Amino acid sequence: MAEFKSPKTEAEFEQNFAQIKPLMTPNQAYFESSRCLFCYDAPCVNACPTGIDIPLFIKQIHSKNTLGAAQTIYNSNVFGYACGKVCPTEVLCEGACVYNHQDVPPIEIGRLQTFATEKAISSNKKLFELAPANGKKVAVIGAGPAGISCACELRVAGFEVEIFEAKAKPSGLTVYGVAPYKITNEEALNEMEYLQNQFGFTIHYNKPIVDDKDIEALESGFDAIFLGIGLGSTSGLGIQGEDKEGVHGAVEMVEILRMNHHNFSMPKKVIVLGGGNTAMDAASESSRMGAEEVILAYRRGKDEMGAYEFEYDLAKGVGVKGLFNVAPLEIIGNGKVEGVRFVRTRVVNGKVENIEGSEFIETTDWVVKATGQSKQSHFLSLISGLKTDSKGCIVVDPVSFQTTNPKYFAAGDSVSGGQEVVNAVANGKKAARAISKI
Ligand SMILES: Cc1cc2nc3c(=O)[nH]c(=O)nc-3n(C[C@H](O)[C@H](O)[C@H](O)COP(=O)(O)OP(=O)(O)OC[C@H]3O[C@@H](n4cnc5c(N)ncnc54)[C@H](O)[C@@H]3O)c2cc1C
Ligand code: SF4
Repeated sequence: MAEFKSPKTEAEFEQNFAQIKPLMTPNQAYFESSRCLFCYDAPCVNACPTGIDIPLFIKQIHSKNTLGAAQTIYNSNVFGYACGKVCPTEVLCEGACVYNHQDVPPIEIGRLQTFATEKAISSNKKLFELAPANGKKVAVIGAGPAGISCACELRVAGFEVEIFEAKAKPSGLTVYGVAPYKITNEEALNEMEYLQNQFGFTIHYNKPIVDDKDIEALESGFDAIFLGIGLGSTSGLGIQGEDKEGVHGAVEMVEILRMNHHNFSMPKKVIVLGGGNTAMDAASESSRMGAEEVILAYRRGKDEMGAYEFEYDLAKGVGVKGLFNVAPLEIIGNGKVEGVRFVRTRVVNGKVENIEGSEFIETTDWVVKATGQSKQSHFLSLISGLKTDSKGCIVVDPVSFQTTNPKYFAAGDSVSGGQEVVNAVANGKKAARAISKI
């Protein structure tokens, strides 16, 4: 029997996807903030890619200056609320907290961060003064964490900013990709509305930049262009049967789930292929959507998975079963997927080898490929002089984030190849600071 029943209503969806880092009450925040040691040269700050002054905002929460705490957070990171919920704090700020050395649970920095920023968002508190208009205009392609962060910083410096976004909603993968038990759509979008009110950038939705004509228009109409386009669709496996009905890319599946919630039908058995964080999310989400059996199949051993340990624990906690040292050879079925033909593998000198004669078939109703995202190579090839590296990532100056075409700057997943929301926010801001000098 499935641990979760397929949700039929929004309330059932919310129950299955209960927030793993729920909002603190004022009392919880007060007591949790009292535990902070306000360390000198605090390791938690050094571990945060956006360098939030964590001991300062915790002290502000403790002295009941919650909006002051929100100001401290937003000064460094405009996705302060989202990051408090979706950041892998276990390996960043909370992982670095000195309490870990004493076998005492670290301070719940992420939850304190969302506690403070929620107060600013719900009261629409104005925290930023914008410099007078400097007469310069920047086009931002993509309203994800990198693009929005860049836009906010540019607005503070007096630039006019227009964002061109392919989809209907802002925040990129924060609303279209991150697991719904980390942040709800409403929470992600509330923070975006708050930022738009604060910073006054313009977003053109459902406006993908697709061809030479679009690019020419931006190049002639704007002083600089920022690329915050993220990555593309799920990469193919290159095996037979990938085109069968019931074979899905993980990123595409999560997007449908996030946008349709309970209007999404889950089959009984699902095989997720991959060992990264996206694979863990897709497996956990399949289980929470009511799949009776979810198998996570990875071609190396359990300890070699790229996923954070706590993400695997989350998946195991909702009944996902691991199948390790197996590689898919073919997806079988008559039009519709019926199973996966696997071969067992071993790792020799770091390389995966198939074990001859060890093939077997695992039946399934669905296959979810969590095999990484492709790069937006075609789009990037339209921009003259723009270089990408051997993996298809945009080449930038590591300090200014300027690309090899001096009119363009870039940050986020399209440069890094795929990191976290907080890295995209940090680097989008650095790019904006460099653009401010043009
Ligand atoms: C399934 C999944 C789960 C994840 N979970 C987490 C998590 O729990 N915590 C975490 O911190 N990180 C997580 N990440 C990673 C994180 O979401 C990304 O690192 C982050 O969103 C990258 O930000 P970005 O702005 O570079 O790109 P994106 O968030 O991808 O945003 C890019 C935006 O650009 C738009 N766009 C693209 N091309 C064009 C175009 N030609 N014209 C106009 N618009 C365009 C897209 O529609 C999109 O809105 C996850 C990623 C995935 C795939
Ligand atoms: S490391 Fe922990 S105790 Fe020290 S300042 Fe940071 S949150 Fe507070």
